[in-house]
Parts: sequence; C-alpha cells; structure tokens
Amino acid sequence: MKIFSKILALGLALSLGFALASCAVAQPEEEIEANKATSVEAEKDGGDTGNTKTDDSKVLVMATNAYFPPYEYYEGSEITGIDAEIAKAIAGKLGMELQIEDVEFDSIIAGVQSGKFDMGMAGMTVTEERQMSVNFSDPYATGIQVIIVKEDSAITDIDSLYDGDYLIGVQQGTTGDIYISEDIGDDAVIRYSKGNDAVLALVSGKVDAVVIDNEPAKAYVDANPGLKILETPYTVEDYAICFAKDNEELRDQVNGALKELTEDGTIAAIIEKYIPSNG
Ligand code: GLN
Repeated sequence: MKIFSKILALGLALSLGFALASCAVAQPEEEIEANKATSVEAEKDGGDTGNTKTDDSKVLVMATNAYFPPYEYYEGSEITGIDAEIAKAIAGKLGMELQIEDVEFDSIIAGVQSGKFDMGMAGMTVTEERQMSVNFSDPYATGIQVIIVKEDSAITDIDSLYDGDYLIGVQQGTTGDIYISEDIGDDAVIRYSKGNDAVLALVSGKVDAVVIDNEPAKAYVDANPGLKILETPYTVEDYAICFAKDNEELRDQVNGALKELTEDGTIAAIIEKYIPSNG
C-alpha cells in the first residue's frame, strides 16, 4: 500500500480512532509470561482437555494472540477483551462453547487453514494478501496503524521516517510490519514477536519508532512514561474474523451472528466497555 492511498483515509481516522480514549492497561511482561503457562480457555464444561481443535462440533476454537489490549489480553489466567467477548457472544448465538488458544500472531492464519483452529480473531486486519489464504467475516471494528516515538524524538510525522536513517520496530507479520517494510524498506525494520517487545526496544533506544495498532499503542504508551503517539495515523483498517477457505458455512453462520449482535447493540456495548467514547 502506498502512502498516497493511506492519506485518503486520514480524515476518517481522525474522526474515528482519535476520538476514542483508551481504558486499557498493558500487563507487566512477567505477569503475562506467568499467565501464558496456564489455561487459556475462555469457557469449557470439563471433559476435554485438549488444547487444539477437537472433534466436538459444539466447541468453537478461536486462535488469537493475547497481547493486544484491549482486544485480547490476560486478566489473571483468563483471556479477556473485545475479541474474546464478541467471540463468546457469537458462540452463544451458535449454541457452541468458545475455546480460546493463544498462539503467535503470524501462525494464526496457517492454523486456521490447516483446520487446527475454527477461526482466527486477533484484531486481524483484512488485507488482499490474507484474503488469498483465508476467508474473512464482515468487519466488526476499525483499526488504525500509528507511530509511537519517544517524547523528545526528532520524528514528528510519517515523512520524517522516510527522511532519516531510523530503525523502526514492529510486531512480526502484522500490517504495521508489512506496510512499513514496503514503504521504507526491510533494512529499516526490526521485527519482534510481541508488540510489547517492540515498545520495550523503543524505550531502551534499540529502535527509533514503533508502528502498531492504535488501541494497543495507547495501552503501551500509558504503561511506559516518556513515549507518545504521533498525531498522524499511518493506515486505517478493518478488523475481521478469519476462516479456512473450505469452511464457508462457519463464516456465514458467524456473519449471521455478527449481524444480530450488531443490530441488538451487543457489539457496540462490548467496544464501549473497553474503549469508552467519553474518555
Ligand atoms: N491489525 C494488525 C494486523 O492484522 C495487528 C494485529 C495484532 O497484532 N494482533 O496485522
């Protein structure tokens, strides 16, 4: 994606994303790591203890990467957040029980393609390239890629990233990674497996900027004094749920559930709970 097409979307971004205030607080890394070793299932009635897709068609297995507040993050040993709650509501509509698996972000699509997981839901942006591998549901939220820098940084906007000899931290395989690598070049990009690691690299001066989705960005900036988000957004994107190409039936069922949950106000209420529009 070239910068010119992104600029077209900036007005929308300013009116949508930047009007929203974050209530998310990033978890300390030690706590996150401790939690990772524990159960990540959202709900289950005992019996099956497997951690991948089971033959029980009543179980809806969702793959996510639970380091993306407020969409998915750990609260104690449970994965919570906007995606977890929407998925639970979808599972409820379909008469299924939700099971959440926490995996690396860039392994979600392969796991969905192979049938290991029924669906992937991880603040995942719809892109043309991903659409060649998986089917997406209708979009349920808007995401914006933003740039985090140190408060006293010489980087003041996207153009400064092109002009300087800067290193940019990203989460591997995300749209931040894909687009910035395309626009600025691979040599300028340092990839981390978690967004939080990219932010820590910024704090310790290993990179000069981080490109990441706006809501986690707010949580990370709140948790790390001395950082700020540049006012100019980089891209505006749709978040949707992904499914195996050969499982159109589930995609259609989920779209039906999403439609009902949108119409009855459930989706808006879940988003409002985590991203209050009045600050
Ligand atoms: N929205 C970004 C993407 O889809 C990042 C998602 C994430 O890190 N969970 O690539």
